[in-house]
Amino acid sequence: MHEITVMKDILRIILDTAKKNMVKRIIKVRIETGAFTDLDESWMNRYFKSLTAGTAAHGAELALEKLKPVISCRTCSYEYETENIDQIDLQCPVCGNRCSIIGDSSFRIVDMEVI
Ligand SMILES: [Zn+2]
Repeated sequence: MHEITVMKDILRIILDTAKKNMVKRIIKVRIETGAFTDLDESWMNRYFKSLTAGTAAHGAELALEKLKPVISCRTCSYEYETENIDQIDLQCPVCGNRCSIIGDSSFRIVDMEVI
């Protein structure tokens, strides 16, 4: 369970930003996670709720978006997103060369809505 560590990091960043911009209340935070993240959404939501209690982000909505893995061809630069990583064809549909999978397990704060 490292979701709590991640959520603490995220919260520190958003509360810091809010303070610097003299924001009273954060109402929505958008987070993007990498295609190969092992972060569990329900735990992230749970920790977000408990960690934001009594802060400027209390009651804020957490919008999580998981990026899809991207299949990329190094030969012709053709790229496409995929849903199912287990059933992908690594042969490029354009030039026939072998493609590679692009994705990571990072997370990124996209933006936040404030009032
Ligand atoms: Zn190709």
